[in-house]
Amino acid sequence: MIDHSTVQQSAGAALVPFYRPTGNECALFETAYREGLPLLIKGPTGCGKTRFVMHMAARLGRPLHTVSCHDDLTAADLTGRYLLQGGETKWMDGPLTRAVREGGICYLDEIVEARKDVTVVLHPLTDDRRILPLERSGELLEAPQQFMLVVSYNPGYQNILKSLKPSTRQRFVSISFDFPSPAIEAEIIAAESGLPEPQCILLATLAQRLRTLKDVDLEEVVSTRLLIYCATLLKNGLDPQQAAEAALVEPLCDDPEVKQGLLELINATF
Ligand code: ADP
Repeated sequence: MIDHSTVQQSAGAALVPFYRPTGNECALFETAYREGLPLLIKGPTGCGKTRFVMHMAARLGRPLHTVSCHDDLTAADLTGRYLLQGGETKWMDGPLTRAVREGGICYLDEIVEARKDVTVVLHPLTDDRRILPLERSGELLEAPQQFMLVVSYNPGYQNILKSLKPSTRQRFVSISFDFPSPAIEAEIIAAESGLPEPQCILLATLAQRLRTLKDVDLEEVVSTRLLIYCATLLKNGLDPQQAAEAALVEPLCDDPEVKQGLLELINATF
């Protein structure tokens, strides 16, 4: 949820989405941008990777092209293709090509999901050549200085079949994200949901306990995103048990016994 309370004003007129840094990641991003280095962000789902990229793109005043990668995503989906329009075939840029042409930031979320041919188009863009050859249209684009490529993946989902090849990984400056400390997470929950801080601290502390259950009973741990959902329900007056069940238990598991265990932990908190 982005509303005006969660948006910071940048030095210019543009609105910058709220992002609470947890370390020196903003300086790293900015340096990578200025030096033309591609960036890889690793981290669990819902921990703030996308928000970070949105925030930095706005801060740097660059247009952002975000692509959520999936297993059918091909290189042509990123670069572009000829489409039939009114009896004519016309070249249509894909999001990567648009970002290169206009000196924007292209963010490929969950890059490991994409088809293998995607890495082939990324390689010449991620070394000192910084070029994008468009085989189908015959063009060869040179990325302007303001173009930046950012990719992310969740190492938790990784398996042997879906991992980035070392030759691809080695082309990126990389940073690992994780869930923030309870104090910072509470700040984020409060800013995003508008729920009073003391209740947000309770939620962040609860999250820390729930996260210790990873690998024991749950495939995925509770994300900052889910905590914000829970806080939003609470702020609207829902009963804490119902809010926690709907935002923290049901989205994470189906097993009745595990659900019961989570509910007991939650009831002990509220
Ligand atoms: P990811 O891309 O890692 O899956 P998101 O960036 O979409 O996760 O984060 C989920 C939500 O959590 C965001 O929409 C935002 O509300 C919130 N969030 C997480 N971390 C932060 C942060 N450091 N500052 C501000 N908001 C955050």
